[in-house]
Amino acid sequence: MPQSELPPFFSRNDAGDLLIEQVRAGEIVERFDSPTYVYSRAAIESAFNALTAAFGDRAHRICYAVKANSNIGILNVLARLGAGFDIVSYGELARVMAAGGDPGKTVFSGVGKSADEIRGALEAGIGCLNVESEAELQRIADIAAEMQQVAPISLRVNPDVDARTHPYISTGLKDNKFGVAIDEALPLYEWAHAHPALEVTGIDCHIGSQLTDVSPFRDAAERVMKLAHRLTERGITLQHLDLGGGLGIRYTDETPPAAADWIEAIRSVVDADPLARDLPIWIEPGRFIAGPAGALLTRVEYLKPGEHKSFAIVDAAMNDLMRPALYGSDMAIVPAGQGSGLGAGDRHPGTWEIVGPICETGDFLGHERELELAEGDVLAVLGAGAYGFSMASNYNTRPRAAEVLVDGRAIHEIRRREPLDSLWALEQLPTTD
Ligand SMILES: *Cc1c(COP(=O)(O)O)cnc(C)c1O
Repeated sequence: MPQSELPPFFSRNDAGDLLIEQVRAGEIVERFDSPTYVYSRAAIESAFNALTAAFGDRAHRICYAVKANSNIGILNVLARLGAGFDIVSYGELARVMAAGGDPGKTVFSGVGKSADEIRGALEAGIGCLNVESEAELQRIADIAAEMQQVAPISLRVNPDVDARTHPYISTGLKDNKFGVAIDEALPLYEWAHAHPALEVTGIDCHIGSQLTDVSPFRDAAERVMKLAHRLTERGITLQHLDLGGGLGIRYTDETPPAAADWIEAIRSVVDADPLARDLPIWIEPGRFIAGPAGALLTRVEYLKPGEHKSFAIVDAAMNDLMRPALYGSDMAIVPAGQGSGLGAGDRHPGTWEIVGPICETGDFLGHERELELAEGDVLAVLGAGAYGFSMASNYNTRPRAAEVLVDGRAIHEIRRREPLDSLWALEQLPTTD
C-alpha cells in the first residue's frame, strides 16, 4: 500500500500524525501503552452498511464471522446494526450472547462440533446449524430427538470451486476437510428431511477467505442453485441460501472487489432464478467488516543495522499478529508520526526488517520496509482488525495487547492489557510428598 494510501477513516493531520477517526495513534499509545489494537467504529459500520445497501430490498441476513474479531465490543456494534453472526464454537456463541447478539440470527459452522456444543446451541435457540458431515448430521438428529426439539439445519456443501487464494484459507475444493461434496448432498438432505428431529432450512457454502475475484463466488452460487432445484423437485422447501464469507481486503497492492460487486455477483445468479427470487440470501463476511477497521500500534524498541539486513525490533510480535508468520502475508506498516512526543532520537532511513522480540526466526511483521526510523517511534500495522487479536497467544509469556475502539473523538478501551499474573492464574505448583 503506498504510504499516502490509508484505509477509510484513517488519515493524517497537518503535522503528519496518523489519525484513527479523530484520534491520534500517538495519543492511544500514550494512554494505553503498546502494543495496542485500535479499531474505528465508523469503518466497521460503513463496511456493514455497504453490504446492506448492496442488497437493496432483497431479503438477506449478514452473519458476521465472529472468529475474525470476537471482542464483545465489536460484536455489540454489529448487533446494534441488526447483524446476525456466524460462529465456529460454543464459546463464540456465548460471546455473541454476552454482546447482546441474537442466537436466533446466528449460524453455527465448523467441522468438529462436540455434543455439548450442539446441545448448548439448541438450548440457546440457534438460528441454523451448518452441518459439515454425515456423522455430524446423525449426531445432531440424536441430540435434538433426545432434547425433544427440532434442529434447524443446512448442509455445508463443497461446490468444488477454486477460490484462488492462499492454500490455508481455501476451503471450497473437494479435497479439503470442510463440508460435504455437493454431489453427495442429496441423499443426506433426503434423510434429514424425513427425520422428525431435523428441519432442513437451507443450503450453505463457504469457499475460502481473502478472495480478490468475484468469479468463484458466482460459480459457487450457480452450483448451489442447481442443488436447490434438485431439492425442490424432491419436495424439500428451502428457507434461505447461505453463500458464506470470504471477500478479500487490500493489505498492500491487492485490488479486491467492492461490497457491491460481491453482492452483485451473487445476485446475478440468484435473482435470475424464479425459484430463489424470494429466498433470503445469507452471507458470512468476517475480514471485510473487521479487517480494514483495525491497526496494531507498536513501538520501536531497538534499531539493529547490519551489513546485509537491518532489523527494527518492535514491541509487537507474532503472538500479537500471526498473519505474516502463518501465511507469509504482507501487511502495510506505516509511521504513526512524531506528534506524540515519542521517537525523538536520531532518525535512520533505510530498508528494515520489522521483527518482534520472540525467539523464533518466523517472528516478523514485515520484510524490507523502506522507513525512516528512530527508537521509540510508533508504527501502525494496517488492515489488522481481522485475524489479528483473535489469533493472538501468550507465547513467550507475553500478555495480549490492549484493544481500543475509536468513535469520532471518543476512545473506548474494549479490552485491557492482560495483567501478567493472569497468565499463570490457572496454574499450580505440584504437590510434593
Ligand atoms: C472464516 C469463515 C468465514 C469468514 O471468512 P472471511 O474471509 O473472514 O470473510 C465465513 N464462514 C465460515 C464458515 C468461516 O469458517
